Amino acid sequence: NHYISLGKLNMDEFAMGGSTENSALAKTSNPWNADCVPGGSSGGSAAAVSSGSAIWALGSDTGGSIRQPASFCGVVGLKPTYGNVSRYGLIAFASSLDQIGPITRDVTDAALVLNAISGHDAKDSTSIPGARVDYTTALVNDVKNLKIGVPKEFFGEGLNSEVRKAMEEAIETYKKLGAEIVEVSLPNSKYALSAYYIIALAEASSNLARYDGVSYGMRVPADNLVDMSTKTRTEGFGPEVQRRILLGTYVLSAGYYDAYYLKALKVRRLIKNEFDEAFSKVDLILTPTAPNTSYKFGEKANDPLAMYLEDICTVPANLAGIPGISIPAGMSSNNLPIGLQLLGPAMGEETLLRAAFTFEQARPDCQLVAPTGEVSL
Ligand code: GLN
Repeated sequence: NHYISLGKLNMDEFAMGGSTENSALAKTSNPWNADCVPGGSSGGSAAAVSSGSAIWALGSDTGGSIRQPASFCGVVGLKPTYGNVSRYGLIAFASSLDQIGPITRDVTDAALVLNAISGHDAKDSTSIPGARVDYTTALVNDVKNLKIGVPKEFFGEGLNSEVRKAMEEAIETYKKLGAEIVEVSLPNSKYALSAYYIIALAEASSNLARYDGVSYGMRVPADNLVDMSTKTRTEGFGPEVQRRILLGTYVLSAGYYDAYYLKALKVRRLIKNEFDEAFSKVDLILTPTAPNTSYKFGEKANDPLAMYLEDICTVPANLAGIPGISIPAGMSSNNLPIGLQLLGPAMGEETLLRAAFTFEQARPDCQLVAPTGEVSL
């Protein structure tokens, strides 16, 4: 299992964002509509695979950054279980949430890439020990004995009506294929976004402290240490990264630690317990990947909260450490892809792949080839 990395792709700076508009380098368009964002933060990866420029790519998913751009670009994105893929060599954003995974054209390729990148690595202390798994054995076209949970909290107000319709059709597809659909409840998921944006930012402020101009990273010279460090950090980091460092430092500071950070950790545990409870009844959980399809450049760039809200369906999996996959589930009337998310229990990647593969076989109408894909694969 060896592969050669052919290049680097665009992304939001330090993986902070949901549209790749926070990139420090360049603009990446959505191959389906050049006026629209590719999603983020791994937007370059999703756009490259969607347009046929790459067969597969890696993404990093701290709060949805594999699944959401995959959904916006009409490709497959798999966030593995926390610890299933080594983060050795990954630049840390939020260490208790970050996970690497594949972005591919189809589910078979997702299994193949996962085979190559998963498994224990002594160089990452959070890597899960155990024998390697051959994920291609999970590519079975059958969901007959599977119970799929549908959490009502993910289908509330704010969900785009076309996304909702595509989810209803997907549920019908699974029913027809013999899966049992069960309503489940994840009441604490309404707090997931708030908990995520406290925990992720707290960890980011700590991880990014090393970019001080002294021992690590770039340096902007100045006459004294304080000026040098200040200049390095204000000139080196973009506005979103600076915002997150400030917020993260705030929630960790004495007096606010208990009120924000500790509370968020408690909420995180409740969310994890709720998933454990749900997975004692069902094999998988089905939700939209994002409440909306892609949007125009600039539409949310100046409104961080609006951008953060788009992460509502993906962040719970990172807080709970569980795997999730986004697969294409149709198109909106304005010709933008819609993504379906399947979540599984920790190390449940095989069940995810099996259910995703079965959907892919049953719904060729959802298998998309972006219009700009001149390169045939
Ligand atoms: N959009 C989320 C954020 O901005 C997720 C980012 C990620 O998964 N890297 O934090």
